[in-house]
Amino acid sequence: MRQFEQGQLTVFQSVLYQTTTAVIKTKEAVIVTDPNWLPNEIAEIKAYIESIIEDRKLYIIFTHSDYDHIIAAGAFPDATTIASEAFVNRINKEEVLEQIRQFDAQYYIEREYPIIYPPIDIVIKEDGQALELQDLTCRFYLSPGHTSDGLFTVVEPFGILLAGDYLSDVEFPFIEDYEAYLATIQKVQTIISEKDVEVLVPGHGTTTDNLDEIQKRIDVSLIYLNNLADGSTDETELQKLYPFYKGLQEMHELNKKAVNKNSHRI
Ligand SMILES: [Zn+2]
Repeated sequence: MRQFEQGQLTVFQSVLYQTTTAVIKTKEAVIVTDPNWLPNEIAEIKAYIESIIEDRKLYIIFTHSDYDHIIAAGAFPDATTIASEAFVNRINKEEVLEQIRQFDAQYYIEREYPIIYPPIDIVIKEDGQALELQDLTCRFYLSPGHTSDGLFTVVEPFGILLAGDYLSDVEFPFIEDYEAYLATIQKVQTIISEKDVEVLVPGHGTTTDNLDEIQKRIDVSLIYLNNLADGSTDETELQKLYPFYKGLQEMHELNKKAVNKNSHRI
């Protein structure tokens, strides 16, 4: 279903985990993030892209390599793909593909396209690297912490931030590397003010064009990270903040382990 439409930006939302796919239409290109999850949802996204593509070039940005975000990579064989260098260099690619196959087997899901780990045409190696098109620039920033291969994209001059699995209103931070996660949230704070970000598209949850809400998402992430580090998390508070907390509790336990692993680092 369509979650958000404004100007060039249309955001689709899956029924699963409120995962989003952003589609941005410009003069010469259509830019898409993480097409997902279910076959009928992919068909809806594909039909929309086909209806607007004309002679535009199709780009797909993969925000990171978690399986839900690459699940339909095989449905767009002609797209020019973009992801971070760490995404390309991921060692255990077969493991991600196996997660997709397991998911599809569990729910008897048949797909009309192959399950692939997408080959990447434009590899992002450093902060500020850009893809310059006629009427817009995509500027990229590495965003490790949730996974090591995260990627932020700012679409200029529209002020759209494609955030991947950060700054969600339905998930607290899911942390793989605590220090990296903290640094990434600090980085996004700078990006938002320097690049005049006006619209935030998170990988899960609600797109927002409310600047106070964008700032609130940063603040809430920082509070969560700080509380996690000093062991002062108030779980009743988390239950109030996140309507699906029952389903997320296990992630909070894993986060505790991630922070402990970090603090024992030499
Ligand atoms: Zn995700």
